[in-house]
Amino acid sequence: MKRALISVSDKTGIIDLARALHEAGVEILSTGGTARLLSQSDIPVVEVASYTGFPEMLDGRLKTLHPRIHGGLLGRPDRPDHRTAMQDAGIGAIDLLVVNLYPFERTSRDAHASFAEVVEQIDIGGPAMLRSAAKNHEHVLPVVDSADYEIVIEALRNPARITPDVRRHLASKVFAHTARYDGIIARYLEGPGEADTPESLPEVLTLTFVKRYAMRYGENPHQRAAFYETPGASPASIAQATKIQGKEMSFNNVADADAALECVRAFAEPACVIVKHANPCGAALGETVAAAYDRAYATDPTSAFGGIIAVNRPLDEATAALIVGRQFVEVIVAPEVSAQAARILADKPGIRVLVVNMSAPTHTGLDYRRVSGGLLVQDRDVPEAEVRLEPVSRRRPTPTETRDLVFAWRIAQFVKSNAIVFARDGRTIGIGAGQMSRVDSARVAVWKAQEAGLEVKGSVLASDAFFPFRDGLDSAAAAGVTAVIQPGGSVRDAEVIASACEHDIAMVFTGRRHFRH
Ligand code: 5GP
Repeated sequence: MKRALISVSDKTGIIDLARALHEAGVEILSTGGTARLLSQSDIPVVEVASYTGFPEMLDGRLKTLHPRIHGGLLGRPDRPDHRTAMQDAGIGAIDLLVVNLYPFERTSRDAHASFAEVVEQIDIGGPAMLRSAAKNHEHVLPVVDSADYEIVIEALRNPARITPDVRRHLASKVFAHTARYDGIIARYLEGPGEADTPESLPEVLTLTFVKRYAMRYGENPHQRAAFYETPGASPASIAQATKIQGKEMSFNNVADADAALECVRAFAEPACVIVKHANPCGAALGETVAAAYDRAYATDPTSAFGGIIAVNRPLDEATAALIVGRQFVEVIVAPEVSAQAARILADKPGIRVLVVNMSAPTHTGLDYRRVSGGLLVQDRDVPEAEVRLEPVSRRRPTPTETRDLVFAWRIAQFVKSNAIVFARDGRTIGIGAGQMSRVDSARVAVWKAQEAGLEVKGSVLASDAFFPFRDGLDSAAAAGVTAVIQPGGSVRDAEVIASACEHDIAMVFTGRRHFRH
């Protein structure tokens, strides 16, 4: 190893590496800031600008984009024609390239950084050099990660350590790194919205997700898993949640916490949603968070065991004490946790407690589902800001019924189809989820309400999709429902409305379906 080029934004570990190189007699080329730092540490360096005879210019946009640099990285010393060409052009071979890139990702996340400042952080020369060196990895060692400096230092002592496999591995790391880097830039420039309208769904979809953390396993123990986040995700998203205590999040924890978070933040009033296996098993509004939790729990205490609890107001002492004293809980999601509540929860260190900024705008954009050989892409089913209520029955819903209908509708959106939700006084009474027939979902909901000792009679009903026949309405009436909310739109709407009128049920159509699979 005779010549190395070092140009790094993140200077971690660079002095030790440069010193080792210098002591091994390696000539070090370096760019402005890096050269200054090394010189200050008494490590001799040759500035790239003096090496190329071309000054750094245009605010550093142009530093290393020069044939003497790229020729040195791309030329193959094992090829006589390359050697001659390099000699004729005065290009010396570079054996080691150490580069890490402008901190684009960090700057793009900085709320105070302007668009121009973020754009300035698009590194041009760095990725170009990395790609040159990685392409020519048989002759140039490309190092993009400070964790690999040790490999270089080892190699100075024992060059045999640098096997072809090590070279390939380092080159592969480079391309993975620059691909990720470009992906983050692309995502940033695309901005929120733009590609998120159906007309503009792209012909070719290139997705960039960045690994947040690995998980012990996936939905089941034999499945590998990791959590990847969208660069620039909303602070309101589950990916941006801060875990203030508790065990590692599992795959199912994240999925369920996401559902609970999205559901609970649909409410303006204090609310609590308990999710189990991706479905709400209880939800309620309350004067206080504690009251909301207490009422949500009562819907289905059996299912709430080991559930995910989300609230949309700061978690206070009373609620924390109530939860901890009563049930096993996997995850609690809240916009804030009071100091007293945190103390109570700390006694159960296994409980995962996530704090999420629920006042930030909701996560919009696209929704993806993997199918064999492809990907289904659609807009996310974001809850309506204002639920449209079109009265279709003779009797109009009372104000209390209206409130309960909207509440039940918002919950039904987060229940797997076919979804039937009975509710009264701002709380769920019975939830029927995931049945293949709507009538069965209703049966399940009634049965669960009975199991919990809750009275279905006098409640309202929400259905995530229209009733295809009047039998669904007839059985709702038999159960004692007084009002129904559903999208409408069946060819048999007239029969269904007739049934509602016969039973004096107040029915409203929303004009929007909320299948969830
Ligand atoms: P320094 O702190 O040494 O002045 O700059 C180091 C950074 O400059 C590294 O992150 C490296 O990737 C980047 N860099 C090196 N050459 C060029 C270039 O020609 N253009 C741009 N935009 N960045 C470069």
